[in-house]
Amino acid sequence: MNEKYEPCPVYRKCGGCQLQNMDYERQLQWKQARCEKLLHRFGKIEPILGMEIPYHYRNKVQAAFAWDPGRRKILSGVYQSSTHRIVPVDSCQTEDKKADEVIVSVRKLLGDFKLRPYDEDTGRGFLRHVLIKRGFQTGELMVVLVTGTPVFTAKRNFVGALLKLHPEITTVIQNINEKRTSMVLGDREKVLYGPGFIRDILCGCTFRVSSRSFYQINPLQTEVLYRKAMEYAELTGEERVVDAYCGVGTIGVVAAKSGAKSVLGVELSRDAVRDAIRNARENGVKNAYFTCSDAGEYLAAMAQEGEKCEVVFLDPPRAGASEDFLLSLCAMAPQRAVYISCNPETLARDLKLLKANHYEVKAIQPVDMFPHTNHIECVASLRRK
Ligand code: SAH
Repeated sequence: MNEKYEPCPVYRKCGGCQLQNMDYERQLQWKQARCEKLLHRFGKIEPILGMEIPYHYRNKVQAAFAWDPGRRKILSGVYQSSTHRIVPVDSCQTEDKKADEVIVSVRKLLGDFKLRPYDEDTGRGFLRHVLIKRGFQTGELMVVLVTGTPVFTAKRNFVGALLKLHPEITTVIQNINEKRTSMVLGDREKVLYGPGFIRDILCGCTFRVSSRSFYQINPLQTEVLYRKAMEYAELTGEERVVDAYCGVGTIGVVAAKSGAKSVLGVELSRDAVRDAIRNARENGVKNAYFTCSDAGEYLAAMAQEGEKCEVVFLDPPRAGASEDFLLSLCAMAPQRAVYISCNPETLARDLKLLKANHYEVKAIQPVDMFPHTNHIECVASLRRK
């Protein structure tokens, strides 16, 4: 970070990076101050763990496609915040460079193949979005072409031409989204090339990533986060562990490899649970089980039946954990809880409830997962009094 700091030329229009007006050191100070303000009353806030090179960290990149206003040129980029106007972006400081290059190539090929971008006003046209996912450790690269119609006549030649430009692509998927919606992905998919998923490695474990399941977008910092979570869990080989809001089972699988006696993962998305079961198997983990359920309902049922565990990991979405979930956790009385949070506001709310129910906060570690944005990730270590 010796070079002079240059903010991104489109940061105001794009809206994706709210902290571009600060250099990285100041961004980290800003995040630290926010954590101190919201969370200091619960326990010690460790100094935030930032990235050494806070650029091109995103392994998942998405671009929307549309005509320019004169309908002469195809644009790709991001929607200007709270509008449906596209801000053209060919390269982004936070995104994987290779992913950005592939998106530019797709745009060029659209012209060569006389394919049209989707038109939001008429609901006509072909390509709506391109989604790229890349395994940073494996190099595997997934391209998802989100189309407004199922018809893709030139698909073999199109995919062939794309692969010729980027032989590093390992799978291509057509996702069909015919709805008038701002959701990027539709429900139907066709695999056009390769296995239809990629693999990546985190903390020495291999994970299968599909187009729709949640996977952390900054793998380098995810390792930092998970290592801290494992340190806080103090697994000795004796602990029954619950991994709540487990996604594709990454924390559970790493915990099983780090000395958990058994792991039970709970997750709402059926696709993610399927991936989690497979991920456990592919990593030779035999003591992990995954169930598709609302985490609050499931924990309430466990508490009701008097089931016990020694460690709970919870990693809820931005809204935080439900009160049901937290009260059931307290009823099950694990000795340790490790709360991973992507929203310090809901973390503060939930820590308050846990603190009122026999838990003390030993430490809170902020980890910068999203440089240049205002998003803050923390892991909190809780112990039963
Ligand atoms: N621990 C995982 C995923 C965290 S993201 C990881 O580190 O990769 C949060 C996950 O919670 C998502 O996979 C989402 O599908 C799931 N989720 C959201 N609401 C839920 C609920 N009520 N019960 C269980 N899982 C839920």
